[in-house]
Amino acid sequence: MINIGEPKLEGNRLSNKIDVPDNFKHHLNESEFFASYDVNIDADESILNIPAVCSMLPLAWYNGLDIHVGSIDGTFLKSMKVLHRKYCEVYPDLLFETNILVDNVVKNVVEGDGVALTFSGGIDSMYSLSRLHDLKPRLVTLFRFTHRSQHRGFFDKIVGHYKERFETEMNVVDTNMRELTKEGNYTYLAIRQTPHQIGALAPMSIGRFNRVFTAGGGVPIYSGLAVDERIRVPDIEDNFAWADLSVRVHGFFYRHEKFPSIIEFMDGFDGLKIQTCWFPSLFGGARIEFDFNCGNCPKCASGIIGLLIRGRNPNHYGFDVDDSTWDKLKNGFNVWGHFRRYIVPMQLFIRENGMPEGDYHGSRAFLEWFKEAKI
Ligand SMILES: [Zn+2]
Repeated sequence: MINIGEPKLEGNRLSNKIDVPDNFKHHLNESEFFASYDVNIDADESILNIPAVCSMLPLAWYNGLDIHVGSIDGTFLKSMKVLHRKYCEVYPDLLFETNILVDNVVKNVVEGDGVALTFSGGIDSMYSLSRLHDLKPRLVTLFRFTHRSQHRGFFDKIVGHYKERFETEMNVVDTNMRELTKEGNYTYLAIRQTPHQIGALAPMSIGRFNRVFTAGGGVPIYSGLAVDERIRVPDIEDNFAWADLSVRVHGFFYRHEKFPSIIEFMDGFDGLKIQTCWFPSLFGGARIEFDFNCGNCPKCASGIIGLLIRGRNPNHYGFDVDDSTWDKLKNGFNVWGHFRRYIVPMQLFIRENGMPEGDYHGSRAFLEWFKEAKI
């Protein structure tokens, strides 16, 4: 059994001691969960415990361990049972039972009517902001989740870029949720995304918001990649809830279809940049030697090509494309494997709609190749 210790709140830094059975200790990098908020936190213990429980649920689900916690919100408790059952339907390696054992189940209300949107600056969240900005969503981004702890300076630059331009409030949660446990196999990585990213918001929701939007990051229909597509989909993650708050997955469709709305929205700002690169997430120890995006990873490729097929210059949206970009992308297609799900629909788009306008540092010749390439 995993035991979640009493929540400790020092200023706006929340922490819980985590205890796991001896034979699971090697799964942990640290023995204490923490989340530091940049807003005042004033919530019942049954809400404060949600992020720590969420940080350990994926390990419990994956290994069939029970979790014990002193108190927890009743709506959250029910919603995690539904989420677990839905994940079990999708991932055949999740066959075990997990019980959340609670001494005190509490009914809460958030007492807020605002809207929050998880926002990294990537393509999916930029699209969701472009569609939801009339709701004036509070943007929430998690440090150490999309960016590794070694890249704090880079992360601060990204957040500063958005804070300068957006009128809506933007909050940072600094949490070790992702770093607390060791990286696992694909199923483990897939089922931890939502509990980590959404669960971290629970303490700050009190008095502020009762709706959370999170961007759908998959594609609904693409042959042969069924499991990979289901990281964040409405019929699973819409079940996430606590108190009287609801969660909605927004914009669950092909990535390339999001660009017209993204472009229209971004053109309304002075030099607004997308930050979609995988590099800060994967290569924690490496130095970041680019401004916003490396231009040489699958996520950057889908951003660059998504803009090109709409006739736009990627360099106006946060990329740094030059003559050397195209050979790097061609080579990447050979090794990126499952990222075909982003790339192939864009290829089909050109075949159906013809070559787009514009030629940026040789992008036209690249797209001519891309249109017919076997990738
Ligand atoms: Zn990149």
